[in-house]
Amino acid sequence: MKTIKIKAPATVANLVCGFDVLGMALEHPQDEMELTLLNKPQLIIQHKDKYGLPTTAEKNVAGVALLALMKAYEKPIGFKVVINKIIKPGSGLGSSAASAAGAVVAANKLLKNYFTKNELVQFAMFGEELASGSKHADNIAPCIYGGVCLIRSNHPLDIIPLKTPKLFVTVVHPQIEIKTSEARAILPKEISLKNAVKHWGNVAALVAGISQNNPEIIANSLRDDIIEPVRKKLIPGFDRVKKRSLTVGALGGGISGSGPSIFMFSTTKKIAEKVEKEMIEIYREFNIEAKTYVSKISKQGVSEV
Ligand code: ADP
Repeated sequence: MKTIKIKAPATVANLVCGFDVLGMALEHPQDEMELTLLNKPQLIIQHKDKYGLPTTAEKNVAGVALLALMKAYEKPIGFKVVINKIIKPGSGLGSSAASAAGAVVAANKLLKNYFTKNELVQFAMFGEELASGSKHADNIAPCIYGGVCLIRSNHPLDIIPLKTPKLFVTVVHPQIEIKTSEARAILPKEISLKNAVKHWGNVAALVAGISQNNPEIIANSLRDDIIEPVRKKLIPGFDRVKKRSLTVGALGGGISGSGPSIFMFSTTKKIAEKVEKEMIEIYREFNIEAKTYVSKISKQGVSEV
Protein backbone atom coordinates (compact mmCIF):
# COMPACT_ATOMS: atom_id res chain seq x y z
CA MET A 1 0.00 0.00 0.00
CA LYS A 2 1.31 3.40 -0.94
CA THR A 3 0.64 6.30 1.46
CA ILE A 4 1.61 9.96 1.28
CA LYS A 5 1.35 12.86 3.74
CA ILE A 6 0.98 16.42 2.51
CA LYS A 7 0.33 19.96 3.74
CA ALA A 8 -2.04 22.27 1.87
CA PRO A 9 -1.72 26.03 2.42
CA ALA A 10 -4.35 28.65 3.19
CA THR A 11 -4.87 31.05 0.31
CA VAL A 12 -6.00 34.66 0.00
CA ALA A 13 -8.20 35.22 -3.05
CA ASN A 14 -8.95 38.53 -4.79
CA LEU A 15 -6.08 40.60 -3.33
CA VAL A 16 -8.40 43.62 -3.07
CA CYS A 17 -8.81 44.72 -6.71
CA GLY A 18 -8.30 41.30 -8.34
CA PHE A 19 -11.79 39.94 -7.69
CA ASP A 20 -11.94 36.35 -9.01
CA VAL A 21 -8.63 36.73 -10.92
CA LEU A 22 -5.84 36.91 -8.28
CA GLY A 23 -4.87 34.69 -5.36
CA MET A 24 -1.83 33.85 -3.23
CA ALA A 25 -0.66 31.02 -1.00
CA LEU A 26 0.38 31.55 2.64
CA GLU A 27 2.95 29.69 4.72
CA HIS A 28 0.48 29.54 7.64
CA PRO A 29 -2.00 28.06 8.34
CA GLN A 30 -1.84 24.74 6.45
CA ASP A 31 -4.13 21.69 6.44
CA GLU A 32 -2.66 18.21 6.87
CA MET A 33 -3.77 15.23 4.82
CA GLU A 34 -2.82 11.59 4.37
CA LEU A 35 -3.75 9.65 1.22
CA THR A 36 -3.46 5.94 0.56
CA LEU A 37 -3.80 4.47 -2.93
CA LEU A 38 -6.31 1.60 -3.16
CA ASN A 39 -6.47 -0.82 -6.05
CA LYS A 40 -10.27 -0.77 -6.30
CA PRO A 41 -12.58 2.15 -7.17
CA GLN A 42 -13.45 3.13 -3.64
CA LEU A 43 -13.19 6.47 -1.82
CA ILE A 44 -12.97 6.51 1.97
CA ILE A 45 -12.86 9.92 3.69
CA GLN A 46 -12.09 10.40 7.37
CA HIS A 47 -11.66 13.58 9.40
CA LYS A 48 -9.30 13.91 12.35
CA ASP A 49 -10.51 17.44 13.16
CA LYS A 50 -13.41 18.93 15.11
CA TYR A 51 -15.34 20.54 12.24
CA GLY A 52 -17.83 17.73 11.55
CA LEU A 53 -17.50 18.01 7.76
CA PRO A 54 -19.28 15.42 5.62
CA THR A 55 -17.39 12.18 4.94
CA THR A 56 -19.59 11.10 2.02
CA ALA A 57 -17.37 11.56 -1.06
CA GLU A 58 -20.04 13.46 -3.05
CA LYS A 59 -20.48 15.98 -0.20
CA ASN A 60 -16.83 16.56 0.67
CA VAL A 61 -14.79 18.90 -1.56
CA ALA A 62 -11.81 16.50 -1.42
CA GLY A 63 -14.16 13.70 -2.44
CA VAL A 64 -15.63 15.37 -5.53
CA ALA A 65 -12.16 16.52 -6.65
CA LEU A 66 -10.83 12.94 -6.33
CA LEU A 67 -13.88 11.48 -8.11
CA ALA A 68 -13.08 13.74 -11.09
CA LEU A 69 -9.44 12.58 -11.03
CA MET A 70 -10.42 8.90 -10.71
CA LYS A 71 -12.75 9.24 -13.71
CA ALA A 72 -9.93 10.68 -15.83
CA TYR A 73 -7.37 8.00 -14.87
CA GLU A 74 -6.71 5.05 -17.18
CA LYS A 75 -7.37 2.28 -14.61
CA PRO A 76 -9.88 1.75 -11.77
CA ILE A 77 -8.28 3.14 -8.60
CA GLY A 78 -9.41 4.39 -5.21
CA PHE A 79 -8.13 6.33 -2.19
CA LYS A 80 -8.40 6.47 1.55
CA VAL A 81 -8.17 10.11 2.68
CA VAL A 82 -7.55 11.28 6.24
CA ILE A 83 -7.99 15.04 6.68
CA ASN A 84 -6.76 17.09 9.61
CA LYS A 85 -8.32 20.46 8.92
CA ILE A 86 -6.41 23.38 10.44
CA ILE A 87 -7.94 26.10 8.21
CA LYS A 88 -11.42 26.69 9.59
CA PRO A 89 -14.18 26.18 6.98
CA GLY A 90 -15.89 29.41 5.95
CA SER A 91 -12.92 31.56 7.00
CA GLY A 92 -12.31 33.12 3.59
CA LEU A 93 -8.85 31.56 3.71
CA GLY A 94 -9.49 28.86 1.13
CA SER A 95 -10.37 26.03 3.51
CA SER A 96 -12.33 24.22 0.82
CA ALA A 97 -9.58 24.83 -1.77
CA ALA A 98 -6.93 23.36 0.57
CA SER A 99 -8.86 20.08 0.88
CA ALA A 100 -9.64 19.80 -2.83
CA ALA A 101 -6.17 20.85 -4.02
CA GLY A 102 -4.38 18.83 -1.31
CA ALA A 103 -6.31 15.70 -2.27
CA VAL A 104 -5.58 15.84 -6.02
CA VAL A 105 -1.90 16.82 -5.62
CA ALA A 106 -1.35 13.96 -3.16
CA ALA A 107 -3.22 11.53 -5.43
CA ASN A 108 -1.12 12.63 -8.40
CA LYS A 109 2.10 12.00 -6.47
CA LEU A 110 0.84 8.48 -5.73
CA LEU A 111 0.18 8.13 -9.48
CA LYS A 112 3.75 9.24 -10.36
CA ASN A 113 2.63 12.66 -11.70
CA TYR A 114 0.28 11.24 -14.33
CA PHE A 115 -1.65 14.52 -14.57
CA THR A 116 -0.42 18.08 -15.25
CA LYS A 117 -0.85 20.89 -12.69
CA ASN A 118 -3.44 22.48 -14.94
CA GLU A 119 -5.49 19.25 -14.97
CA LEU A 120 -5.22 19.04 -11.17
CA VAL A 121 -6.63 22.58 -10.86
CA GLN A 122 -9.56 21.54 -13.04
CA PHE A 123 -10.30 18.47 -10.85
CA ALA A 124 -10.04 20.56 -7.67
CA MET A 125 -12.43 23.17 -9.10
CA PHE A 126 -15.24 20.59 -8.70
CA GLY A 127 -14.65 21.04 -4.97
CA GLU A 128 -15.15 24.80 -5.25
CA GLU A 129 -18.34 24.19 -7.18
CA LEU A 130 -19.60 22.03 -4.31
CA ALA A 131 -18.57 24.57 -1.64
CA SER A 132 -19.76 27.77 -3.28
CA GLY A 133 -21.75 26.93 -6.40
CA SER A 134 -19.16 28.23 -8.84
CA LYS A 135 -16.06 26.65 -10.37
CA HIS A 136 -13.49 29.33 -9.60
CA ALA A 137 -9.70 28.89 -9.42
CA ASP A 138 -8.51 31.93 -7.44
CA ASN A 139 -7.83 29.81 -4.33
CA ILE A 140 -7.13 26.49 -6.07
CA ALA A 141 -4.48 27.82 -8.49
CA PRO A 142 -2.17 29.37 -5.83
CA CYS A 143 -2.79 26.36 -3.56
CA ILE A 144 -1.36 24.11 -6.30
CA TYR A 145 1.17 26.40 -8.01
CA GLY A 146 2.23 28.38 -4.89
CA GLY A 147 3.07 32.10 -4.80
CA VAL A 148 0.74 34.59 -6.46
CA CYS A 149 -1.37 33.48 -9.43
CA LEU A 150 -3.32 35.41 -12.03
CA ILE A 151 -6.30 33.51 -13.38
CA ARG A 152 -6.88 35.25 -16.69
CA SER A 153 -9.81 32.94 -17.42
CA ASN A 154 -11.61 30.11 -15.60
CA HIS A 155 -13.23 28.65 -18.73
CA PRO A 156 -11.03 27.86 -20.58
CA LEU A 157 -8.59 27.72 -17.70
CA ASP A 158 -5.65 30.08 -18.13
CA ILE A 159 -3.36 30.42 -15.10
CA ILE A 160 -0.39 32.79 -15.11
CA PRO A 161 1.89 32.24 -12.09
CA LEU A 162 3.43 35.57 -11.05
CA LYS A 163 6.58 36.34 -9.07
CA THR A 164 6.39 36.06 -5.29
CA PRO A 165 6.97 39.50 -3.74
CA LYS A 166 9.08 39.59 -0.58
CA LEU A 167 6.25 40.68 1.69
CA PHE A 168 4.76 39.64 5.00
CA VAL A 169 1.07 39.01 5.36
CA THR A 170 -0.94 39.55 8.53
CA VAL A 171 -4.35 37.91 8.64
CA VAL A 172 -7.14 38.34 11.15
CA HIS A 173 -10.04 35.92 11.18
CA PRO A 174 -12.86 37.32 13.32
CA GLN A 175 -14.92 34.31 14.39
CA ILE A 176 -18.14 35.29 12.65
CA GLU A 177 -19.80 33.45 9.79
CA ILE A 178 -20.24 34.84 6.30
CA LYS A 179 -21.77 32.57 3.69
CA THR A 180 -19.90 32.80 0.35
CA SER A 181 -23.30 32.64 -1.37
CA GLU A 182 -24.52 35.68 0.65
CA ALA A 183 -21.30 37.61 -0.01
CA ARG A 184 -21.81 36.95 -3.74
CA ALA A 185 -25.53 37.74 -3.78
CA ILE A 186 -25.00 41.31 -2.53
CA LEU A 187 -22.54 42.25 -5.28
CA PRO A 188 -23.52 44.75 -7.99
CA LYS A 189 -24.47 43.13 -11.28
CA GLU A 190 -23.20 46.04 -13.35
CA ILE A 191 -20.56 48.74 -12.91
CA SER A 192 -20.01 52.06 -14.64
CA LEU A 193 -17.34 52.47 -17.29
CA LYS A 194 -15.71 55.16 -15.12
CA ASN A 195 -15.38 52.71 -12.22
CA ALA A 196 -14.24 49.93 -14.54
CA VAL A 197 -11.41 52.04 -15.97
CA LYS A 198 -10.26 52.95 -12.45
CA HIS A 199 -10.47 49.32 -11.43
CA TRP A 200 -8.53 47.74 -14.28
CA GLY A 201 -5.90 50.43 -13.82
CA ASN A 202 -5.46 49.18 -10.26
CA VAL A 203 -5.41 45.48 -11.20
CA ALA A 204 -2.85 46.07 -13.95
CA ALA A 205 -0.70 48.14 -11.57
CA LEU A 206 -0.95 45.50 -8.84
CA VAL A 207 0.24 42.80 -11.25
CA ALA A 208 3.11 45.10 -12.32
CA GLY A 209 3.98 45.85 -8.67
CA ILE A 210 3.99 42.13 -7.79
CA SER A 211 6.07 41.26 -10.86
CA GLN A 212 8.61 43.99 -10.06
CA ASN A 213 8.55 43.32 -6.28
CA ASN A 214 7.81 47.03 -5.88
CA PRO A 215 6.07 47.79 -2.54
CA GLU A 216 5.22 51.35 -3.56
CA ILE A 217 3.26 50.28 -6.65
CA ILE A 218 1.61 47.48 -4.66
CA ALA A 219 0.54 49.94 -1.92
CA ASN A 220 -0.87 52.38 -4.48
CA SER A 221 -2.91 49.80 -6.32
CA LEU A 222 -4.53 47.95 -3.40
CA ARG A 223 -7.80 49.83 -3.97
CA ASP A 224 -11.29 48.60 -4.65
CA ASP A 225 -14.35 50.86 -5.03
CA ILE A 226 -16.57 48.08 -6.41
CA ILE A 227 -16.60 45.00 -4.18
CA GLU A 228 -15.10 46.22 -0.89
CA PRO A 229 -17.65 48.98 -0.10
CA VAL A 230 -20.46 46.39 -0.32
CA ARG A 231 -18.78 43.41 1.35
CA LYS A 232 -17.12 45.29 4.20
CA LYS A 233 -20.58 45.88 5.71
CA LEU A 234 -20.62 42.17 6.58
CA ILE A 235 -17.38 42.47 8.60
CA PRO A 236 -17.51 44.42 11.87
CA GLY A 237 -14.34 46.45 12.45
CA PHE A 238 -13.18 46.33 8.82
CA ASP A 239 -12.55 50.10 8.44
CA ARG A 240 -10.83 50.26 11.82
CA VAL A 241 -8.51 47.34 10.92
CA LYS A 242 -7.58 48.98 7.63
CA LYS A 243 -7.00 52.43 9.10
CA ARG A 244 -4.94 51.29 12.07
CA SER A 245 -2.90 48.83 9.96
CA LEU A 246 -1.95 51.65 7.59
CA THR A 247 -1.08 53.88 10.56
CA VAL A 248 1.45 51.35 11.88
CA GLY A 249 3.04 50.96 8.45
CA ALA A 250 1.16 48.29 6.44
CA LEU A 251 1.19 48.73 2.67
CA GLY A 252 -2.52 47.96 2.43
CA GLY A 253 -4.87 45.04 2.19
CA GLY A 254 -8.52 44.14 2.41
CA ILE A 255 -11.01 41.30 2.59
CA SER A 256 -9.58 37.82 2.09
CA GLY A 257 -11.82 35.99 -0.38
CA SER A 258 -15.38 36.70 0.62
CA GLY A 259 -14.39 37.25 4.25
CA PRO A 260 -14.65 37.46 7.17
CA SER A 261 -10.83 37.25 7.25
CA ILE A 262 -8.89 40.44 6.50
CA PHE A 263 -5.29 40.49 5.26
CA MET A 264 -2.63 43.21 5.24
CA PHE A 265 0.72 43.34 3.43
CA SER A 266 3.85 44.68 5.18
CA THR A 267 7.46 44.98 4.07
CA THR A 268 8.95 43.67 7.34
CA LYS A 269 8.05 41.09 9.99
CA LYS A 270 8.24 43.82 12.61
CA ILE A 271 5.54 45.89 10.89
CA ALA A 272 3.46 42.76 10.23
CA GLU A 273 3.54 41.99 13.98
CA LYS A 274 2.53 45.56 14.84
CA VAL A 275 -0.43 45.12 12.49
CA GLU A 276 -1.28 41.87 14.26
CA LYS A 277 -1.28 43.68 17.65
CA GLU A 278 -3.70 46.29 16.29
CA MET A 279 -5.99 43.61 14.88
CA ILE A 280 -6.09 41.75 18.21
CA GLU A 281 -6.82 45.00 20.06
CA ILE A 282 -9.61 46.02 17.65
CA TYR A 283 -11.50 42.73 18.00
CA ARG A 284 -11.04 42.93 21.77
CA GLU A 285 -12.79 46.32 21.55
CA PHE A 286 -15.57 44.69 19.50
CA ASN A 287 -15.75 41.77 21.90
CA ILE A 288 -15.41 39.36 18.98
CA GLU A 289 -13.07 36.40 19.23
CA ALA A 290 -10.42 36.56 16.52
CA LYS A 291 -7.51 34.43 15.32
CA THR A 292 -4.45 36.03 13.74
CA TYR A 293 -1.56 34.81 11.58
CA VAL A 294 1.71 36.42 10.46
CA SER A 295 3.09 34.67 7.43
CA LYS A 296 5.21 35.01 4.34
CA ILE A 297 3.74 34.37 0.91
CA SER A 298 4.42 30.69 0.28
CA LYS A 299 6.40 30.01 -2.87
CA GLN A 300 5.27 26.42 -2.65
CA GLY A 301 1.76 25.13 -2.99
CA VAL A 302 0.72 21.76 -1.59
CA SER A 303 3.88 20.02 -0.32
CA GLU A 304 4.87 16.55 0.79
CA VAL A 305 5.86 16.15 4.45
P1 ADP B 1 -13.50 28.91 2.60
O1 ADP B 1 -13.33 30.25 1.96
O2 ADP B 1 -12.86 28.89 3.94
O3 ADP B 1 -13.07 27.79 1.71
P2 ADP B 1 -16.17 28.21 1.84
O4 ADP B 1 -17.45 28.68 2.44
O5 ADP B 1 -15.86 28.57 0.42
O6 ADP B 1 -15.02 28.69 2.85
O7 ADP B 1 -16.06 26.61 1.92
C1 ADP B 1 -16.43 25.90 3.03
C2 ADP B 1 -17.69 25.07 2.71
O8 ADP B 1 -17.31 23.86 2.08
C3 ADP B 1 -18.42 24.70 3.98
O9 ADP B 1 -19.81 24.81 3.73
C4 ADP B 1 -18.04 23.25 4.20
O10 ADP B 1 -19.07 22.52 4.84
C5 ADP B 1 -17.83 22.72 2.79
N1 ADP B 1 -16.87 21.60 2.75
C6 ADP B 1 -17.09 20.35 2.31
N2 ADP B 1 -15.99 19.60 2.41
C7 ADP B 1 -15.01 20.37 2.91
C8 ADP B 1 -13.65 20.15 3.23
N3 ADP B 1 -13.05 18.97 3.07
N4 ADP B 1 -12.96 21.19 3.70
C9 ADP B 1 -13.54 22.40 3.87
N5 ADP B 1 -14.83 22.67 3.58
C10 ADP B 1 -15.57 21.66 3.11
